[in-house]
Amino acid sequence: MSTNDFPTSHPTLATEYFDGQRPVAQAVTLRIDGGDLLIEGAGVSRRVPRRQLRWPERQRHGARLMYLPQHGLISHADGAGWDAWARSQGLRDPWVVRWMQSWRGVLWALLACVMLAGAIWQWGVPWAGHAVVAAIPASVDQTVGEQALASFDREGLSPSRLGAEQQAAIRRAFAAAVERAYPAAERPAYTLHFRSSGRMKIGPNAFALPGGLMVLTDELAELLVATPDVITGVLAHELGHVRHRHGMRTVVQAGLLAGLAGLVVGDFSSVLAAVPAVLGQQAYARDFERQADQEAIAVLRANGVRPSQMVVLFERLADWRRRQGETQLTELPIAVADHPADAERTRVFRDADAVR
Ligand SMILES: [Zn+2]
Repeated sequence: MSTNDFPTSHPTLATEYFDGQRPVAQAVTLRIDGGDLLIEGAGVSRRVPRRQLRWPERQRHGARLMYLPQHGLISHADGAGWDAWARSQGLRDPWVVRWMQSWRGVLWALLACVMLAGAIWQWGVPWAGHAVVAAIPASVDQTVGEQALASFDREGLSPSRLGAEQQAAIRRAFAAAVERAYPAAERPAYTLHFRSSGRMKIGPNAFALPGGLMVLTDELAELLVATPDVITGVLAHELGHVRHRHGMRTVVQAGLLAGLAGLVVGDFSSVLAAVPAVLGQQAYARDFERQADQEAIAVLRANGVRPSQMVVLFERLADWRRRQGETQLTELPIAVADHPADAERTRVFRDADAVR
């Protein structure tokens, strides 16, 4: 306990008082009497309860101000003298001010902000994304997906060069696999679109857009021409994204993040314009990929195909990349060909044979 806790020194303070009516300083003395501040001078006598006193955050140097209820203020030019008197009289800054003046307080507040932002990013946004998407009618997904595909077509996807017969065979095989895997009521609606990778240079690839639009590139169909079950597995993975509305959730999450950023920087204009870019460039969360792989495994099993067949996909993709040189590929992380995760995913499909 410090000696300042006992109000023995500086019992009064000579200072200046403004009554709030005239711009004239009046000489007064201040004295603490019990729970009140007494302001006394020529023609001035006020008694103000301490808890009604307000003052702005102190600067290290400079005058001190104290606002009185209703009207009037006290101004004291000698900051250090005021602080010594105030301390001796037990007049303490509000806790917020004390916090702001303590670097430890600032550091803790900063840390709390960072942790809060991290928690919002990690859990809040996915949770809110899920809730928001649940409230969005499916027709909106359809519109977003169609516009995104139109945008990809403009950006460089080319019409498919696959023969009509080959396309029809892939469609038939996948439709039959879906029919066997899901009861009619749970069968996700999808449309399958064939495209050549074209100027987008996404190579052998497949991806799903909101509204059940699934795209398979000629390059992937050709790579897997001898293993139709693997094409079915790839499409079943995309169907997993469709079934769980991962595309829409990614768009909504990106929108929420942009909205949160907008709260900070105040600019919402680019949110909608960014939708195709988001779908093309932002990786699905790894959880989404795992969920889609589980869907592929379930569909393959329902069709009596060993999930480890999918290992062929990753081997062929690795071969293809070696032949092309990595540099020619545009990253499209929403697609099935997600390089860094290849090893983990290969393991998942391989292990799925053993667990039934
Ligand atoms: Zn995927």
